Amino acid sequence: MKIIVANWKMNSSVNFVHEFVKSINEIKTQNKVVVCPPFPLIGHFADFKHHVGAQNCFYEKSGQYTGEISPSLLCELGVKYVIIGHSERRNVFWETNEDVYKKWIAAIDNKLIPIVCIGEKSEQRTTWRDALHVQMKLFESCDLRDSIFAYEPVWSIGTGFVPTVDEIENVSKFIKDSINCRWLLYGGSVNASNIEHIIKCSNIDGVLVGGASLKTKEFADIILKSE
Ligand code: PEP
Repeated sequence: MKIIVANWKMNSSVNFVHEFVKSINEIKTQNKVVVCPPFPLIGHFADFKHHVGAQNCFYEKSGQYTGEISPSLLCELGVKYVIIGHSERRNVFWETNEDVYKKWIAAIDNKLIPIVCIGEKSEQRTTWRDALHVQMKLFESCDLRDSIFAYEPVWSIGTGFVPTVDEIENVSKFIKDSINCRWLLYGGSVNASNIEHIIKCSNIDGVLVGGASLKTKEFADIILKSE
């Protein structure tokens, strides 16, 4: 079984959810499919036969935090998964490794399955070990049995550039040797044409898909080709 996660970012609409749910519900798959829409669309997935995730959560339980959302409210909405530390959160909204760690704790405390994103920036391509080490440090002695990690090289997100299979093998082994994570996804420009190569990588347990998850037919192909 592979885990296929869709990250819709700040895209899509109520109409799109209805079309998407209808098509993806028809797919027969052993894979675990998780769709992470923008918060206001979560309630429109009532008929979805797969799983719904959130793209972010805050680490506090409640309070004066305008615009934030608590893990417990996500649970109340039927959400089971939450993406934490996506590179866009780190780079556009200045989330630190400490923030990511605190959000991971809050997610685990609420029995949400966190999908923690890590990955080097383009200027760190030759020093990726150091970059990933810094992002993984706080997780080194954690129990990660109920967590998913996603290796997402920042230079690959939304660019069409994908690491070679050897590079993915190399980095994924480094990550699994560094932290005790059972589930490791690859994310960055995954599409229906490259999925078969990526999914065969030995330490890769699934994929995190951005742009291609907003094309229903292509996302369906990605799910089917990952079997
Ligand atoms: C992402 O947003 O996590 C992602 C991998 O995006 P894309 O597939 O568009 O590169």
